[in-house]
Amino acid sequence: MAEDKLDSQGLANESVFEKFDVPFSSPVQPEQLDLDDTIQFSCFKGIECFNACCKNIDITLTPYDVIRMSRRLGLTTTQFLTLFTTQYDLDAHGMPGIKLKPVEDGTACQLMTEEGCGIYTDRPTACRYYAMGMMGMRRNDEFAIKDVFFMVKEPHCKGHEQDRKLTVREYREEQGVEEFDELNRDWIDMIVKKRSAGPTVGSPSERSFQLFYLASYDLDGFRKFTQSEGFAKMFDMDAELREQLDTDDKALIRFASRFLKQVLFGEQSIDKKEGASEQRYEARKPVIQKKHEDNIEKYSMRDPANAGKDSDKS
Ligand code: SF4
Ligand code: SF4
Repeated sequence: MAEDKLDSQGLANESVFEKFDVPFSSPVQPEQLDLDDTIQFSCFKGIECFNACCKNIDITLTPYDVIRMSRRLGLTTTQFLTLFTTQYDLDAHGMPGIKLKPVEDGTACQLMTEEGCGIYTDRPTACRYYAMGMMGMRRNDEFAIKDVFFMVKEPHCKGHEQDRKLTVREYREEQGVEEFDELNRDWIDMIVKKRSAGPTVGSPSERSFQLFYLASYDLDGFRKFTQSEGFAKMFDMDAELREQLDTDDKALIRFASRFLKQVLFGEQSIDKKEGASEQRYEARKPVIQKKHEDNIEKYSMRDPANAGKDSDKS
């Protein structure tokens, strides 16, 4: 919940400690925890540090967080993103991530009240986990992505001093994170995969990043996109799937991850209509041709000594 060097649902390959060179003074504890390891922690109303963690926030949001919070607040995801989030780069290519936006001119969460979290039953994943963190991790010699847990010990948090012991598994159950992790699983895997692929995948286009933002966070906007004429022309969807995407947020999240894997990694899991790609190419041919000509002009005007130094994302 509070500021630390890593996202509470950190997204990384290899060990967080090896990979990110966590500074010695970091509140992130170096011990990696498994589900049956025991922790000592308790947070409750009346504890002397109550709300301290919500007064200085650095909270990364996931797709399911956005759905839960926007529904709770009676907002569309588009409205929620504008009012409650800021954007940051998830990786060196500028893959868009979002964080909770604090109050104007301050660091406290906009949703904090005197009584605690104003949306407690719909609070985001990172707030549920705190003072524990979770990350999806893939070692270089392994294919599968594994969840790894760790504690974050910050001086203001007195929860670590309470005499209550429980396992990581029990803590996750108590905080209701399982549903969140299950619904964010494909999305987190995709980000770990993108990061671990490194430069071999290359820099995705601006268009890919726009689709990533839409399908990851602005799910009401993505729903409209799936209802568009262009989408219907391109993809083969039966009536049952169409109905699910129109009415079921969880089905929409799962479909959005499949769609993004198709866009970013070419993993074809959504059937395309026969000839749709060719038709789309023909329709976009003038735009592609124009871009090509612009690029030729742009590069021919450059100093040949610098050729190849810039990457063109368009
Ligand atoms: S969403 Fe709730 S728990 Fe999370 S920082 Fe804001 S007030 Fe605190
Ligand atoms: S014990 Fe930790 S998590 Fe709980 S209110 Fe205090 S600072 Fe926040």
